[in-house]
Amino acid sequence: MLQSLMLRLETTDADKSRLLKTMKMYNEACNFVTEKAYSLKLANKYKLHKEVYQETRRRFGLSSQLVVRIIGKVVEAYRRDKTIQPSFKQFGAIQYDQRNSRVMIDKVSIMTLQGRLRLATRIGEYQKARFDRVQGQCDLIYRNGVFYLIVVVDAPDKSEYDPIGVLGIDLGIENIAVDSDRQIFESKKVENTRQRYSRLRSTLQHVATKSAKRKLKKLSGKERRFKKDINHVISKAIISKAKGTARAIGIENLKHIRSRVTVRRSQRDRHSKWAFGELRNFVTYKAKREGVPLMVVNSKNTSRECPECQYIDKRNRKTQNQFECLQCGYKEMADYVAAVNIAARAAVKQPVVGETLISTYKPTEFIRW
Ligand SMILES: [Zn+2]
Repeated sequence: MLQSLMLRLETTDADKSRLLKTMKMYNEACNFVTEKAYSLKLANKYKLHKEVYQETRRRFGLSSQLVVRIIGKVVEAYRRDKTIQPSFKQFGAIQYDQRNSRVMIDKVSIMTLQGRLRLATRIGEYQKARFDRVQGQCDLIYRNGVFYLIVVVDAPDKSEYDPIGVLGIDLGIENIAVDSDRQIFESKKVENTRQRYSRLRSTLQHVATKSAKRKLKKLSGKERRFKKDINHVISKAIISKAKGTARAIGIENLKHIRSRVTVRRSQRDRHSKWAFGELRNFVTYKAKREGVPLMVVNSKNTSRECPECQYIDKRNRKTQNQFECLQCGYKEMADYVAAVNIAARAAVKQPVVGETLISTYKPTEFIRW
């Protein structure tokens, strides 16, 4: 799977000032090209190239390949959002490709204003092991006085351990995620922040001005990043729990995540916009990265079946958060019941040898990085 590595570059003061100058010029050029793209309303790479290439090279003294990359970068940003003209920070990252950089295990060569610069890298054993398959692009960044090169490598998957038992995960109706140990993965903070965004959004939606529209767009970006952060935190917690207890993770197939229960309106507002697909993706790739076996089970009736007597009835789920079996009277938190059912289904999917489950699961889903 693809992974990013941060390589620390060894630089003398002279190297540093050379790189800083290049960075500054590069970002000034980005701002210049952006301004052109927005004022001329050009979202086409070739048309923009025609307009700005010569002048950018002359003004900023950057190599041909760097200018080509800048134009590509600006077009991408412009297409993403035509209402906001982005501004590039003075020491923002430089994107390199194979034509203006060369990355080897212990040294790199990158283009600067004064031609190529060869630098040694400080590389750890962990990074070394992953270095045989570097992907095309890399980013030069500057953090706290140090230069790093971010490279993408195709890292081998960790081999899976043989799990003892399954940790079932229910992705949410009432909660974002609940596991079969009855742990709820949702904090008060998530709910408060989500409500704040929701209120802001509905206020802005009732104002039809241009500035309200712009604010709405900015808000949705913030909200997306907030959800992404939370999804990272939750998926990480789930993975480390499963790994720490040597269990596999059981999860539902995607199809029924939101359709299986008729959701009340207030509830719908609460969770329908939660990025469950993203959370599921995070759980999947992190499991793969950490060697945690993952088992996908059929989601049919996971929230309607009684884990005690196996009686299935829609009416077993009395409300969003209450499960009460019509046959045996078993009463529990509904999402937890679903998680227990998921864990049970995942466990029977596998032949049991003594206490150990033999892992036969092969990931079939495409993992987006
Ligand atoms: Zn029952």
